[in-house]
Amino acid sequence: MTHMIKPANVQDVWLKERGRYRRGRTAEGKLSVSISCPRCGGVASLSGHAIDAQGDVTPSVVCPHDIEQVELRPLGEVTVKCDFHEFVRLEGWTEGAGPT
Ligand SMILES: [Zn+2]
Repeated sequence: MTHMIKPANVQDVWLKERGRYRRGRTAEGKLSVSISCPRCGGVASLSGHAIDAQGDVTPSVVCPHDIEQVELRPLGEVTVKCDFHEFVRLEGWTEGAGPT
């Protein structure tokens, strides 16, 4: 199933929202897109992915982040990998097709 990612409307607070994307430009003027993971909220670059004119991203997106989880047992804090791994579509994409 394709996961819909909404555009970030308020640039300053987008990092606090899960499942958003933001467009930017690299120092070389190349298009760069980052998304906040719908599951853990961690930010990941779509560098190396292709985006088509409809906003569909290939290949699928794997979240690179860990999630800190506090266990109530004597083991204390453990770190587990975020398991988000899905195809995503960028809602309202208007930049056309291309690599990132
Ligand atoms: Zn994640």
